[in-house]
This record gives sequence, structure tokens and C-alpha cells, in this order.
Amino acid sequence: MKRKKELHLIMALMLLLILSGGVLLFSNGISRELWTNSIQTMTEHMRQGANAINIQFETDFYKLEITKESILRVTSSVQKQILAPSKIIDPDVTMYLYDDDPDAEVVKQDYTVRQYLEKTDKERGILDSHINSMTGESVFNIFVRVPFRDGTRGYLVKEYRAKDISMQFTLSFYDNNGFSYLVNRDGTIMVRPQHRNSNKTNHNLFDFIASKENDESMITFFRDSIYGKKSGWAKFVCEGTDMVFCYEPLEMDSDWLMVSIVPESVITAQTKSILTRTLIFSGFLGAVVLVLVAYFSGIIMHETREYNRELRDALEMADKADKAKSHFLMNMSHDIRTPLNAIIGMTIIAQDNRDDNERVDECLEKINLSGKHLVSFVNDLLDMSQIENGEIILKEETVSISQIYNEVINLMKLPAMESNITMEPAPAHLNHETVVGDPIRIRQVMINIISNAIKYTPSGGRVSVELTQSEKVKDGYGIYRFRCTDTGIGIEPELLEKMFLSFERGRNTTHSGIAGMGVGLSITKGLLDIMKGSISVESEPDKGSTFIVEFRFLLQEDEAAADEANIQTAAITELSDAEAVYDYSDKHILLVDDVELNMEIMEALLEMIGANAEKACNGKEAVDLVRTKPCGYYSLIFMDIQMPVMDGYEATRQIRAMDREDAKTIPIIALSANALAEDVQNAKLAGMNDHIAKPVDIGPIEKTLQQYIK
Ligand code: ADP
Repeated sequence: MKRKKELHLIMALMLLLILSGGVLLFSNGISRELWTNSIQTMTEHMRQGANAINIQFETDFYKLEITKESILRVTSSVQKQILAPSKIIDPDVTMYLYDDDPDAEVVKQDYTVRQYLEKTDKERGILDSHINSMTGESVFNIFVRVPFRDGTRGYLVKEYRAKDISMQFTLSFYDNNGFSYLVNRDGTIMVRPQHRNSNKTNHNLFDFIASKENDESMITFFRDSIYGKKSGWAKFVCEGTDMVFCYEPLEMDSDWLMVSIVPESVITAQTKSILTRTLIFSGFLGAVVLVLVAYFSGIIMHETREYNRELRDALEMADKADKAKSHFLMNMSHDIRTPLNAIIGMTIIAQDNRDDNERVDECLEKINLSGKHLVSFVNDLLDMSQIENGEIILKEETVSISQIYNEVINLMKLPAMESNITMEPAPAHLNHETVVGDPIRIRQVMINIISNAIKYTPSGGRVSVELTQSEKVKDGYGIYRFRCTDTGIGIEPELLEKMFLSFERGRNTTHSGIAGMGVGLSITKGLLDIMKGSISVESEPDKGSTFIVEFRFLLQEDEAAADEANIQTAAITELSDAEAVYDYSDKHILLVDDVELNMEIMEALLEMIGANAEKACNGKEAVDLVRTKPCGYYSLIFMDIQMPVMDGYEATRQIRAMDREDAKTIPIIALSANALAEDVQNAKLAGMNDHIAKPVDIGPIEKTLQQYIK
């Protein structure tokens, strides 16, 4: 652990080192770049300044040339007048004449210019700045030679006041911290800036650069560059301050250059400010990126952890489900074998006691009970699978909820009595009796809860039930609370959390050998979920349990329901009246089944009701029989579904398609071991009237005959 921490620390330090190195390299690179940029910008400015001066001088030279041409073209008498030395051609242009005329008027001419022109042999040129002997101003000049025909040497000279040129053409940089000067190739300053910050004392460029502060070879190199009229830049220490010198030659016929002098600190200050801003911005950007990376990697890590947890949970669930299923198979095998054992055992006992009618009756009763237990077991399995597959469709009937409650209590009284349990039902207290719901499923929920209470309460215990209605009504829906409290064995806390899952049973219940396979509550919960209800439980081991079910029903007007209930009662009465008088002896009922034993049972049941059965052992035989018999011969057909040669669906379709009067009206009832909702639907789609699930009991058969045979 400690080593791991150290490793992390070293890695963090290395990262910091790399990062700092990166920042240093980056800032150096940027500084260099910015420095070069500043020098380039300065050079570019100077180039433009120099260019402007070049253009100005070129224009003035051109004007002098034109004047010269005009002078040379006029007659010599006129020339005499014009050439009088005192005549000024233009306020700034003067003609300087060199002839032997001793009266020539030279008084008003600049002595320095006159002296220079006397000695020069140049055709045109520029004169270094000097003090005009006439005006006392700092000036410089350009000149063009005029070759008079009589041999007189003349010069047209234009004078510039250094002050004017300085105002027009010298540059200042970096908020008047750096300035440009016009110098000649010896470094003499010809024109200096007017600004008060600029240097007013040095007369030569090289006066700025003291040799003791700077490398001599550098100074020489700089001096050569200036003398050679090159362009470039150099850095020198001037009175303790680092100064940058940028130089650019003027292109005209002169020895002049433009030189800018700027303190290095001014340039680097700007560079530093840009760099600092860049670094701050990059730092900020980096921080934002880091925060984002941390945020997203946090999310990703969280998601990965979640995903792993989900995987682990799923694995655990799958493992649990697997265990629960093997447990369920074990229980199922046990739960099937128990009634089967009873059926086989009781049959043997009955066979052995044929003469003892009472004993035989007792055996038959137990065989019947075991069979019914098996059927309810299979029904539970079907319900469970239908709920899991979302195949349960609820009926929407107008029902009296207290009627269902009372029926359930009446039904459960017998098993409670048999187990020596006292049932304590409270009368239903309801504001609304009538609701829309599926009576079979409501009954199933109540029965499941009460039968568990009876099952898990030892002899002598009590089971109390009540049904109340909450005051709350929302959007026409009412809440009904069904509560069942027992004084039974209670539920262990660990089972409380998972008892609504399939195949979960308590240890105390499995060990005590109480029959059950752990699906009753999961079916109940599944049905309530579909009904948008809920279930909860409070329990303490050895003290008892309370189950609370909340139903949510659409409320109906109680009067309408009463009418409906009356109609139902009337129908039942009618039916029971009919039962009392009905005689099936002259009716022909066709039984279609491929299994001999099933056929035998049905035949016997029909005989008990007093009806005659004719038989066909597959769909094709049934179709042929119907075809050969006259119209209306068969009053009803009980049709198996899965049969060889032709199945029940196809046989029904063929009968319905026959060209005879009763083809569409003969009642055809499916009698099948396929008992899922989709099987019932398929039977109806094939044209059958109804569906009875095997194993068959006499009750449903009798009811069907009453309903369909008129
Ligand atoms: P089964 O009763 O067929 O085992 P259920 O799903 O109905 O299956 O119940 C699941 C488990 O919950 C039972 O095995 C039992 O341990 C426990 N249980 C249910 N109702 C009660 C009750 N009223 N008292 C004590 N335990 C109960």
C-alpha cells in the first residue's frame, strides 16, 4: 500500500516535471516568435518610412530636372536675367552659379552649400545636414547640376528644413519609447525626431554605443553594416540599458539610412504581456479540460462501476433464479408425487375392499380430492407462466365487490373449519359497492391470501379478514383495502423481502412439510400489478402475519350494478329452472377425441347427465359423420384439439363451411388439455363457441349443455 502511494507520488512529480518542461519550452518558443515578430514589424514600419522619404526626394529631384530642362531651353539674353544669382526660382529652390563674374551676388546664399558645390563634380546629390549660414536653421539640400552652354557651372538646390522633414518622416515606436533617426553612412545624425523623449545630445549614432559596455567586434560589425548601407538589427547596451537598433538604407542618391532605437525592455514587456496572457489563457483552458476530463472520466468510472455492479447483480440473480428453479423442480416433483401417491394408493385400497362400500366411497373421495389438488397445481403453473409472459387479459365486468368478498368468505369457511381455525370476517364497509373488475381474478387474490393464512396457522388459531374502502376517489377510481390477519407461524425477516418472487418459500414452512410450491404470492402480486393494485405484509415469526391488499377499481353507479346483479341472478334462476326440467334423452351429442380413456370418461359423464353420446376418433371422422346426418341431427359437438389425421380446428372450419342450414349454428365446444388464454382464443377463431379445459368435471359439462341445447 505504502509502495503504491510512493509510486503515485513519483509519477505525479514526473508528470509535473514534464509539464513544467513543456511550459518552459512553449513559452521560450512563443517569446522567440514574438521577438522576431516585433523586429519584423519595426523593420516593416521603417521600410515604409524610408520609402516615403525616397518618394519625396525622387519627386523633388524630378521637379529640379524639369526646371533644369526649361532653363537650358530659353535664350541666352533671358538666361542672363534668370540666372542672376539673387533670383530665387522657388521659395526653397535656389540657383547657385559659378562663373568668373566678380559682381555676382552670392551674399544671400548658404555658405556651406556654396563651398560644397564648388568642390563637387556630382551631377546630382544630397548634402548632409548643416546650419544654413543665412538663416541659422538646421537644413539639408538636394541639388542638380545645370550645364550652361557658355560653360558656366550652375546648380539648382532645394533646401529642406530638418525640422519639417523630421515632423513628416521620423517614426516613433512603443508609445514614444523608441524613435527613428536619419543618419549618414558614418553614423552622423542628419535628422532627429522632435519628440522630447528622443535623444538630443548625441550627434553620431555610435555615440549611443560605448565600447566598454559592448563587444568591440559587434560594434565593428554594426559600423560596417551602416557603412555598407545594409538593413538589419543589432542589440547593444547603452548607458546600462539594452537597446535594439534596426537599420534600413534610403534608396536615393544618398549615403543615408533610417535607424530606429528602441529599449529592449519595451519590446520584451509587450512580449511578456502577450506571453503571460497566453499562458493564463492556456492554463485556464488546461484547467477546464482537466475538469472536463475528470468529470467525464468520473462519469465513465461511475458507469463502469455501475455496469460491473449490474453484471454482478445479474449474475447473482441468474444464480439465484437457477437455484430457485431447481428448488422449484424439487418441490414440484414432491407436490405432484404426493397427490399421485394418494390416487394410486387409494385406488389399490378401493380395489382391495370392493365389498366395503363405505371404505370404497372414502377412497374415491380422497382420489377426487387429490385429483382436484393436482388440477389447481397445474392451474397455478399456467397462471404463473401467463403472468410472466404478460398474457393475462383482465375481464372488465360490473361487479359487486362486497358480493365477491362474501362469496370468498363462505368458500373459505369449510377449509378453515377442517383445519380447526376460527374465521373472523368483518362485514364489508363500503361507500361504493359496484366497480369494474375481473371477478375471477379478484376472487383468486382473496382466496390465495386467506388460504395461506389458514395453511400457515396451526390448529386452534384465528384468521380475521376485512374489506374497507378509502375515502379517496381520484378520476373516478376508488381504493379498496382487503386485510387478512392470522395468528400463525409468521414469516422470517429474510423471506419478507423476497416472498413475492416465484418459488420462494420460508424455511419454517418447507421444513414443517406444509404443502406449497412458492408461487401463490407471486401470482397474487402479478395479478395485482396488472390490476394496478398493491400488496404488503407485516409479520413476526411465531406471532402471525397481516397481508394488506389494495385494489384500485373504476367506480360504477350502484343502481346499475344492482340491475346487472338482478339480471345475473335471474339468469342463474332461469338456468337452474331449466336444469330442473331439462331432458337430453332425445338429443345427439357428438364426442370427438382420439384418446380412448378420455372418450370413456366423457361418455360416462354425459350418461350421468342423461345425454347420449356418439363418437368419432379424429376430426375427419367427425366431419364425415356430420355430413352424413340430416340437418339438426347433432345438438352439440365436444371437439378435442390435438388429434391425428385432422385436428379440432380444421374439423370445425370444415363443418362451419358446409352448405347446410345448421353448419353455422351447431354448438361446437373445444375440450382440450391446451388451457392457455391463446388456446381459448384460437378455438374461437376457428369457429368454436366455447372452451372447456381438461381434466373435465361434471359441473362445467352440465352448465354447457344447459347453455347451448335449447
Ligand atoms: P406456497 O404457500 O405455495 O408455499 P406462496 O407464494 O403462497 O407459496 O407463499 C410463499 C411463502 O410465504 C410460503 O411458502 C410461506 O413460507 C410464506 N407465507 C405466505 N403466507 C404466509 C402466512 N400467512 N403465514 C406465514 N407464512 C406465509
